[in-house]
Amino acid sequence: MKKLFTSQDAFEMQAVRSELDALSIPYMVKNEFASGAIGELPWQDSQQEVWLVDDSWYGRASKVVEALINSANKTTGAREDWLCTQCGEENGSAFELCWQCNEGHRPE
Ligand SMILES: [Zn+2]
Repeated sequence: MKKLFTSQDAFEMQAVRSELDALSIPYMVKNEFASGAIGELPWQDSQQEVWLVDDSWYGRASKVVEALINSANKTTGAREDWLCTQCGEENGSAFELCWQCNEGHRPE
C-alpha cells in the first residue's frame, strides 16, 4: 500500500477519486469519516488520504493527481498578474497579450 494523495478539500478529494474510478485504479480512502467524529483528533488525522492498494499503479496515479492539481492551479492562476517572457513587463490578469509589446507570451 502506498499513500497517493491527501487533502482536506472535499472537492479535490472527489476529483481525484473519480479520476481513479474512471481509470479503474484500485484505491482506498482512510479517515473518510473522521471529520464527523468527536473532535479529539489533531487536524492531521481528520484529513482524508487516498491509498493505492497496488503500488504498481503509483506512477500512473501520481500523474493523474499532478494533472488535477495543475489544472486547479491554472484556474486560480488566471486571476494573477503575469510577467511577459518577451519584454519582462508586468501585466494584469485581464490581459491575454502583453500590453507593452503585444506578444502573447503569457507563461504557462
Ligand atoms: Zn511584453
